[in-house]
Amino acid sequence: MKMVKLKDKKIWKSNKNNNTIVKCKNVNFGEGYFTVIAGPCAIENKEMALQTAKKVENLGASVFRSSLFKPRTSPYSFQGIGEEGLEILKEIKSETNLLIESEVLSAEHLNILYDHIDIVRIGSRNMDNYELLKEVGKIDKPIILKRGMSATLKEFLLAAEYIISAGNEHIILCERGIRSFETYTRNTLDILAVPSLKELTHLPVIVDPSHSTGKSSLVPSASKAAIAAGADGLIIEVHPNPKDALSDGEQSIDFITFEKLMKEIKVLADVLMKKTSFKQEVSI
Ligand code: PEP
Ligand code: MN
Repeated sequence: MKMVKLKDKKIWKSNKNNNTIVKCKNVNFGEGYFTVIAGPCAIENKEMALQTAKKVENLGASVFRSSLFKPRTSPYSFQGIGEEGLEILKEIKSETNLLIESEVLSAEHLNILYDHIDIVRIGSRNMDNYELLKEVGKIDKPIILKRGMSATLKEFLLAAEYIISAGNEHIILCERGIRSFETYTRNTLDILAVPSLKELTHLPVIVDPSHSTGKSSLVPSASKAAIAAGADGLIIEVHPNPKDALSDGEQSIDFITFEKLMKEIKVLADVLMKKTSFKQEVSI
């Protein structure tokens, strides 16, 4: 059998200017853009989902983070509202212009969510679920692929290669922190993964400042570090009342913090000449 070298594969960058823009309706991910995905860790009920969606849209997010199925470390923790949430997704679609992304843990979830979402997320626990990667490789929607918590960049890129080799080129890589000896933060944000991935592959790279820190107080710093390091966007957990969240409240930011962060991000995006879809006027 002929061995294919990593650099011959489809996600490898052929030259410095070879950058893929993943376009989903009116939203672009990739070089020259800075795109924000925001929403709760999980949809808990209609009221909080709609309130959060409208707020993050007003503050400049383009995509709503809308998990219905949650991969939780403990089987006794909130597992997401599941299929019941489809009606809520429909309502968010009709009341906002946000695109909707959601995590799938299995091919069955993909079928359930398919008609209701614009972007599919594969979480870090499934980065090396090769059968699932092949399944999402057959669809025509963009895939956010999160880095496994112990995955090297090579393993991460080979996971993306599973998707692209099955036919789907619309992949957005997401750095979400890796396991290290440090316990102060939930994970260690591997900030240099951003320019390293951008050097290695033509795919867009976004950062999850929520799971990579585990602490709402550190989310703004991680977000600003991400844009400075060359990220093409963020996926952030925002909750109307983080202390009452059913999952990941300690790392979710409230609306006031999100608003301040978006203003700062806008200034940085302007300096770095990245296009945003933020509606607000900047005054900090
Ligand atoms: C998530 O984004 O909801 C999530 C579970 O994150 P990760 O897969 O990075 O742990
Ligand atoms: Mn979460």
